[in-house]
Amino acid sequence: MGTAAMKQPVAITVASLHPRSQPSQWPLYGAVLERSCEGELWGIKLAVHRHIEGMVITDLSDSEVVQEWNEQNEEHPIQEGHVIIEVNGYRDHENMKQQFASSLSMQLLVCTEPSDLQQWAFDVFAQRKNLTAAVDAIIQKVEAHREGTNFGGCSICHDDMHASCGQGSQVVRLPCKHHFHESCVKRWLLTGNHRCPLCNHHLALES
Ligand SMILES: [Zn+2]
Ligand SMILES: [Zn+2]
Repeated sequence: MGTAAMKQPVAITVASLHPRSQPSQWPLYGAVLERSCEGELWGIKLAVHRHIEGMVITDLSDSEVVQEWNEQNEEHPIQEGHVIIEVNGYRDHENMKQQFASSLSMQLLVCTEPSDLQQWAFDVFAQRKNLTAAVDAIIQKVEAHREGTNFGGCSICHDDMHASCGQGSQVVRLPCKHHFHESCVKRWLLTGNHRCPLCNHHLALES
């Protein structure tokens, strides 16, 4: 993916939903993925939006099934940013999802050139992924469960941060040495705030 400028979800017109009027010119390829049982995961992350045709492939890093396909089909590798437009003959999201959930074999029709809207869905995901990685890189997990450790209240939710915190409320430290619940501060940082909620220290979260 290039580093195209952020596309805003504004001014979506009916015309822009169907940017290509000649399907025969679409750069399409077919792919067949197989798994041995329903419990085996496809490992394919998809962006799906009711106003956007197809399912945009956003993350393949966990997909052994796709890795296998790509090793055997170098001329048509499935890549992030491609769009699945048909699954086992279905083109509506509901049935496509159903096929992903229950089928052991999937015949896919994949498009290598996303429309503007499909590209936008991908970019939103990619930006969020980059930001999540940047947030994970700056927060430091803290052993709050050690005896005698008490950081007082989390200044975001005002609940205590000490040994009584369960598994779901890991305490973390920002570079400015302020402590918060991990879930609280992640929510804060992932919604576009790049400063410590307590001291306003600017955090380097380039995305
Ligand atoms: Zn909190
Ligand atoms: Zn701070």
